[in-house]
Amino acid sequence: MISATADPPMYALRVGHLWNGTTLIDDAVVVVEGDRIVKVGAGKRDVPKGAQVVDLRRYTGLPGLIDLHTHITYYWDRKPGTRPRGQRRRPAVTVFLAQENARRTLETGVTTIRDLGSANEMDFAMRDLVAMGAMIGPRMFVAGQGISARAGATPNPDAMRQAAEDRIKAGADWVKVYGSLGSFESVETTQTITFEEMKAIVDAAHAQGHKVAIHSYGPSGVKDAVRAGADSVEHGIDLDDETLQEMVRRGTVWVPTIDHNRYYIDAKDEFAFRPETIEPLREYIQRNLDATRRAVQAGVRIGMGSDAVYTMFGQNTRELGWLVKAGMTPPQALASATTIPAELLGIQDRLGRIAPGYVADLVAVEGRPLERIEDLFDGVRWVMKDGAVVVDKRRHEQP
Ligand SMILES: [Zn+2]
Repeated sequence: MISATADPPMYALRVGHLWNGTTLIDDAVVVVEGDRIVKVGAGKRDVPKGAQVVDLRRYTGLPGLIDLHTHITYYWDRKPGTRPRGQRRRPAVTVFLAQENARRTLETGVTTIRDLGSANEMDFAMRDLVAMGAMIGPRMFVAGQGISARAGATPNPDAMRQAAEDRIKAGADWVKVYGSLGSFESVETTQTITFEEMKAIVDAAHAQGHKVAIHSYGPSGVKDAVRAGADSVEHGIDLDDETLQEMVRRGTVWVPTIDHNRYYIDAKDEFAFRPETIEPLREYIQRNLDATRRAVQAGVRIGMGSDAVYTMFGQNTRELGWLVKAGMTPPQALASATTIPAELLGIQDRLGRIAPGYVADLVAVEGRPLERIEDLFDGVRWVMKDGAVVVDKRRHEQP
């Protein structure tokens, strides 16, 4: 008689070099049952009988990566004569089309994202579809529409508290706040949300067990966001030593998103940015990098966030090159995309590492990303998420 509940298939992933989130294991064997890792060993003797062997011996294995800042529903169909911004279509159509962004993201080795801003609750729909298994993509933690205010508007902490509560009620995992101007080709640093308003939002969200990410291009907004208790702060330049120390003391995660301005410069023709916007973008990158260097030295917890929109999907991990430029070793940079974001998202007991009991998310990379982080950017050959293979670009050798 056939059992009604057949055991899930057991995989033994044989990995050349496995970085499990902290250490490197040569000739590793990762045993996967269903969506979980059940054992991590080394050498042929650790391959269980009856397991289906996946040969990743020419690759370096990493935990599934986490991108802390995306806008995955910003989708452009590249139709000639159109620009990424301003294409109009029904939200459900965009959700469907944004599967391409999701696929490109998985191809970079990113299996989890925190999506920080989407209109019409499109991110809620995408998160739910991925969680149901109806759409292939990274698992998503989402914020819905970010909370913002006009520059110079009369501060209203009560309205801000209400806005945070409304987002959570609607289904947001995180609350996103635009604490300053600055986006796309604009590097305008003007603060738009006051300390009192930020505090009202943070307190309201924390009271319900939700976390808050505050966007600020300028230093005053970052300072206020940190003091108000933001769980993460996005972007930023010219951070003073006091703010860096306060981040260390509170454990605030800083997501500098240096690479997104590199992308805007590279994609300037697609967006039709005016030529005079390019030099300020370059200058912002430099100051963003300088601040990150100082934050690394101060011991601030730094997270990888691409701030990917439109055609930047597929470049999600290039931020790690900047983090290495800022003084991190490649393993420290990889921690910014694994263990640190897992803690920030509250999933450190199941993601960000390769260990027994953890969710089976694993990336196989050709090259030596632990020595040369750039190898990660186009070296991803195979990705498993929740125990299922979602990317397979292995080069199969001739027999
Ligand atoms: Zn963003």
